[in-house]
Amino acid sequence: MKVLDNVHLVDGTNANVYLVIRDGKVALIDTGLPGEHEKVIRYLDGLGFAPEDVDLIVLTHSHHDHAGSLMELKELTGAKVAAHREEIPRLTEKVLKWSGRRIDVEVPLEDGDEIAGLRVVHSPGHTPGSIVLHSRALRAIFPGDLVYEEEGRLHEIPHRYSLDPEMNREAIKNVLRLDFEHVLPSHGRPILNEGRKRWRELVEELGLK
Ligand SMILES: [Zn+2]
Repeated sequence: MKVLDNVHLVDGTNANVYLVIRDGKVALIDTGLPGEHEKVIRYLDGLGFAPEDVDLIVLTHSHHDHAGSLMELKELTGAKVAAHREEIPRLTEKVLKWSGRRIDVEVPLEDGDEIAGLRVVHSPGHTPGSIVLHSRALRAIFPGDLVYEEEGRLHEIPHRYSLDPEMNREAIKNVLRLDFEHVLPSHGRPILNEGRKRWRELVEELGLK
């Protein structure tokens, strides 16, 4: 599904996989559950892209519904992998468990880095190396598992899924410093135009002001 100019959401994966297209190359944001790589390749094919057109895979964090098909997609595309520096040890450990192989994370990210036209905002809490990706040009954010969408509203991820829910709340609050109007979450549907408004409602609801 096309979400914004040059941004697509792959149909039918568990956690959302987004494609960001620039200069004929594609960056993937997250990879879905183990076994979902074929859905991504099929979607790319529908847009006229070959697997080799993917040059970058950026992970919001290392959970298996986001990084599950990382090894397969890296092998099929030859793309480089990017993740926050603090997430890399967990990521390599998990991929080793799922695939029996060691993943190479070529691009360690830090807060403030720019990658594929997206700014990295380190947002620990859900996991130590969780990131939010922010496109100033698109006025959009990809918040990973900081929040999820349901019926047009945003909610914090249930505390049992987060390593440090209080820190996650702090990260939710900090997102309001960014300039955006579209929210492209990992779970649920994208919120276009009203994203900032919905985010502010969540911050108020959680008493974070
Ligand atoms: Zn997660």
